[in-house]
Amino acid sequence: MKYPLLFITALFCSIVLHAQTEKEKVETTITKNKIEGHIYFLAHDLLKGRQTGTPETKIAASYLANTLRSFGVKPVAPSVLKGSGTESYYQELELSMVTPVKHLVLAIDGNELKKKVARKTNKMDFTGEAVYVGYGLESDYKGKDVSEKIVIVKSGGPNITDQNGVFDLVTQKEQLAKANGAVAIIEFLDTNDGTWRYIEHHFNGERIELASEKKTKQEKGLAYLWIHDENHIQTKAFESKNKLTAKLKMEGEETKPIRCQNVIGMVEGTDPKLKNEFIIYSAHYDHTGIGPADETGDNIYNGARDNAVGITTVLTMAENIAKYPTKRSALFVFFTAEEKGLLGSKFYVENPVLPLKNMVYCFNSDNAGYNDTSRISVIGLSRTTASENIKSAAKSFGLTAMDDAAPEQNLFDRSDNVVFAQAGIPAPTFSLGFSSFDGDVTKYYHQAGDEADTLDYDYLLKFFQSYLLAGRLIANDPKTPTWTLGDKYEATGKALYGN
Ligand SMILES: [Zn+2]
Repeated sequence: MKYPLLFITALFCSIVLHAQTEKEKVETTITKNKIEGHIYFLAHDLLKGRQTGTPETKIAASYLANTLRSFGVKPVAPSVLKGSGTESYYQELELSMVTPVKHLVLAIDGNELKKKVARKTNKMDFTGEAVYVGYGLESDYKGKDVSEKIVIVKSGGPNITDQNGVFDLVTQKEQLAKANGAVAIIEFLDTNDGTWRYIEHHFNGERIELASEKKTKQEKGLAYLWIHDENHIQTKAFESKNKLTAKLKMEGEETKPIRCQNVIGMVEGTDPKLKNEFIIYSAHYDHTGIGPADETGDNIYNGARDNAVGITTVLTMAENIAKYPTKRSALFVFFTAEEKGLLGSKFYVENPVLPLKNMVYCFNSDNAGYNDTSRISVIGLSRTTASENIKSAAKSFGLTAMDDAAPEQNLFDRSDNVVFAQAGIPAPTFSLGFSSFDGDVTKYYHQAGDEADTLDYDYLLKFFQSYLLAGRLIANDPKTPTWTLGDKYEATGKALYGN
């Protein structure tokens, strides 16, 4: 059968003229098989839970770098925006492994205190005066001379007894003690047994710190100890005493450098102006390694949800943007040492490979678990002007993007996004859907059972598609995303971008 020429011409034109929609571009590069390939590898037992500093994490880093390479994503050349760039896909971090003090003796008025941890250490052998200053807040120091003495405080403040509030005050108390010339601060911590066990485990074991942090601490030279004191039973005895004596001996802490990397790549934007604005797509790739065995005998904490899923979010984005670049440029960053206290992202923000003021948005992905496959939970969704783009992207794939359903968990402040937020960069975290932080979320969160074969890949496909489309819409939007009016970080953002 022969078609009239006009019809063929019309058909040809319609094929040529039909530009792919953003949604179609997303659907072209992502498949369930590819997703499974990434997650099954990253969460495999052979990577032993991707513990920071281990050889297995280096294998994970190599996988990320070479997967970026296979997509055509490039390392950041030093010529781009006159930044420092990277020679390769790797940014080497300077971290220290700190083994706890071997000798720690503390006695107040001759009574030795047993339930203690050194939050901050400093080699010292002190015998002398100690002063009890209540909560250790500014007004508590009035009329008290603590110079060259040990300061004793109780945790919290006059109206602050909740856990987050108590720990939020720690830095302020430390600074006040230092400003008043004290040599050490001893805080009696009102906390339950569970929290205390966690603190003991964390501070009495080996820990990893940024080498730069370690240096500042040594310069500060102020030791900070915590004593377990549920309901402040022990501090009551100090209320009536003006003078106390203390003996504090602390020595034998060892520090050795450990090597690990953030993995970074970029794709330049297509718009001559907007390409100077970058969207960061980020996720941490470390997890917690090997730990106590669960009831099945499994002791490898695979971290499929946390955070092989987040890594795959960024990898699928990288593949898509490498094939279909957006108007704004894209920076893909995989952080290490998130589980050690957001160290990879902190190091990055202290040592950015591109100027931070050109980074207009950080679209982070981190995950605990999920219990609602009809939604996506975006931590900080309504805090940036990109929320409409994220919501409409999720809707295109049959999901609903919703704000954090568990504000009590303080999740915004517990992942790498907060480090960028503190620098002024609008930075939400894209997470698997949860309607509450319990059930199937806590069942897998930081557990050995967080394995690749316990995931719903039909849901994940829609989850990743939504992220890709949201990223594309944000990166192509003529309007640059910002913090919403009145947000805690709005002013910092304005200062960073100079507007
Ligand atoms: Zn995580």
